[in-house]
Amino acid sequence: MVFAVLALQGAFIEHRQKLSSIGVSSFEIRQLSDLKKPFDALILPGGESTTMRRLLDDLRLFNPIQALISEGLPVLGTCAGMILLSQEIEQETYQHFATMPITVARNYFGRQLGSFVKNIRYQGHSLDMIFVRAPIVTKVSKDVKVLIEFDGLIAAVQYKNQIALAFHPELGKSTYFHRQLVSLVEQRSN
Ligand code: GLN
Repeated sequence: MVFAVLALQGAFIEHRQKLSSIGVSSFEIRQLSDLKKPFDALILPGGESTTMRRLLDDLRLFNPIQALISEGLPVLGTCAGMILLSQEIEQETYQHFATMPITVARNYFGRQLGSFVKNIRYQGHSLDMIFVRAPIVTKVSKDVKVLIEFDGLIAAVQYKNQIALAFHPELGKSTYFHRQLVSLVEQRSN
């Protein structure tokens, strides 16, 4: 199993380290030719969604990646990655990949708040959710599964082949969501 990590900007190295800690090899997508290599799943990391979008367009990566996700490629979008996947962005008129029927609010906790950690028990383990100028999910369509909700805020969702998290799972100790991406790949090949 080989995963690709979008590496235009943002926190992609930590995702690769997390993958290697669970025995999954990965490579970076930096230009169009990188998409020629076969891969089983894709990670869209945190960073700055508008900058990432500009680079996706400039490098002509946007359309092919959108097509792969629509065709069922397992994908994990974290923070800015969640924004890239969402169909609607509060108070904005643009969309990015828009492959997930959710609405997000960018910088929900304010632009100035650097980061904070919220610890919860999730699926039998302690999960540190690390939020960095994070979005939050404000609407979900009925086919979307809400995975994590705290204080009335939706922070993790799944829709078919796509998992989107408002926080940074690559910065905490848990490997749960990276293993979930492995499960999506296994389900796809069964
Ligand atoms: N605030 C960023 C955005 O709107 C997301 C922050 C992050 O990915 N850590 O794109």
